[in-house]
Amino acid sequence: MQMYSEADVDTGVLNTRQVTILGYGSQGRAHALNLKDSGFNVVVGLRRNGASWTKAEADGLTVKEPAEAVQGATVIVFLTPDMVQKQLYDTLVADIGQNATLLFAHGFAVHFKLIEARDDLNVVLIAPKGPGDLVRRQYEEGHGVPCLVAVHQDATGDALQLALAYSAGIGGARAGVIETTFAEETETDLFGEQAVLCGGATELIVAGFETLVEAGYQPEVAYYEVMHELKLIVDLLHEGGLKKMFEFISDTAAYGDLVSGPRVVGPQARAAMKAILADIQDGTFARNWIAENAAGMSEFRRMRQQDLDHPIEKVGAELRGRMDWLRD
Ligand code: NAD
Ligand code: MG
Repeated sequence: MQMYSEADVDTGVLNTRQVTILGYGSQGRAHALNLKDSGFNVVVGLRRNGASWTKAEADGLTVKEPAEAVQGATVIVFLTPDMVQKQLYDTLVADIGQNATLLFAHGFAVHFKLIEARDDLNVVLIAPKGPGDLVRRQYEEGHGVPCLVAVHQDATGDALQLALAYSAGIGGARAGVIETTFAEETETDLFGEQAVLCGGATELIVAGFETLVEAGYQPEVAYYEVMHELKLIVDLLHEGGLKKMFEFISDTAAYGDLVSGPRVVGPQARAAMKAILADIQDGTFARNWIAENAAGMSEFRRMRQQDLDHPIEKVGAELRGRMDWLRD
């Protein structure tokens, strides 16, 4: 494993050059503000009638339309949704200067060949391992969110140095930057969110809730048990791994974990994980998601609405409303 820290980075390669951030959502705002506070020359590229324009200006940033914003830029950062990056690149490519660096926070568009960049351009990845608000908050507190770095195309010979300088600008180098490839970052990121973090965790919660409610227990009690209390466990895992969790839970909970956990995530779940990974690796998932976007995302919206209409959401909203400490 190759890990870089601030000592390995020469921010001088970027200091006076222009970094253009396209998109001002979760990652875009955090990256733009951190880079500006690090003394970098930042321009934000946004659609003039978009909602983010006034927000970015109010944050004290220089804002231009994308085609103007990429002109003269040494680094162009694609922080729009993954599915609009190809179209954005196609409309901007004529305005992108010779030997510029295209930087991504997730490898999807490059790895699945939606974007096949001009030969004279660098193509690099700096993927923070956390949401944008954490990237901003950690930076403000003098820390950083760890990042992954990868180089897909090195046209200028210093693509890695440019990417590392960028990671230092957003604070990531303070926490460490691990070298990876676009393939590894894209495939592990998709697998994680599908099998474990988002897809796996939410199905586990809802199935646990349904099991208790169908057995006649009160929905409110079931909600506290399977959704609310999950945070306590995740915090322990996040801070100190399995060891810290076992230190803080009761022996009864630990014994139950050991004998029952493997019954839930048994051979069938493991086989499903392998099948999900295979669909990611062979491009099946990407093809389906691209087709869903092209078709207007109605099936995506229907499925998401079905999740949002589940009884656990109604019970949860009522109970959370009584816990005023949950409101920021
Ligand atoms: P987001 O949805 O929060 O924000 C997207 C931004 O792009 C918005 O400002 C939106 O107005 C703008 N936008 C949308 N369509 C546009 C268009 N056609 N032209 C110009 N601007 C447009 O996105 P995000 O979650 O910050 O994701 C950005 C990138 O970062 C993605 O590649 C994502 O995979 C990656 N990433 C996200 C996270 C995360 O926690 N959200 C973590 C790591 C990496
Ligand atoms: Mg789900």
